[in-house]
Amino acid sequence: MAQLAHKTIRAAVTREAVVAYVALGANLGDAAAALKQALHDLSALPLTVVSKTSSIYKTAALGIDSSSDSSPDYLNAVVELQTSLSAPVLLHHLQQKEQAAGRERPYLNAPRTLDLDLLLYGSGTIGSANLTVPHPRMMQRAFVLVPLAEIAPGLVSAGQLAAVASQRIERF
Ligand code: AMP
Repeated sequence: MAQLAHKTIRAAVTREAVVAYVALGANLGDAAAALKQALHDLSALPLTVVSKTSSIYKTAALGIDSSSDSSPDYLNAVVELQTSLSAPVLLHHLQQKEQAAGRERPYLNAPRTLDLDLLLYGSGTIGSANLTVPHPRMMQRAFVLVPLAEIAPGLVSAGQLAAVASQRIERF
């Protein structure tokens, strides 16, 4: 029995790493500092290595639903992780980092101190109550596709980039 438990723990720890992509965004307060802190925090996640980091991009806020607010530009980036965390556990860590950065959700698409989205988790598709992978809106967003194409060009086609070419994005 003890041997079985030992084997189970070993399997959890040495589980083969999956390549995952996470999008980072911030447009409130010191957004550059928030992204820098988030990049540092992601590199400290358990069972996870940050294998690639895109440039930081400055992008126009999209889809603002509060008519009275104009939203400041965002800073965005995408990272590639090699992780042995399961997708739900990885999402839980990402949400903890958002909370730690003071994230509030007063209305849909409100400005945010830090937004961390799980874009891709290996080649898997996930459709649970609180996690959809691939991220359902990633293909409509230049702030995701441009940095993703920078670090993983094989994952984004020229046509997908052309479809978001009207969205303002520049290297920060
Ligand atoms: P947001 O306001 O963009 O941070 O959305 C957060 C909500 O989206 C949370 O309730 C998450 O559980 C949910 N969600 C679903 N799929 C994903 C995903 N792939 N990455 C991040 N959040 C997700």
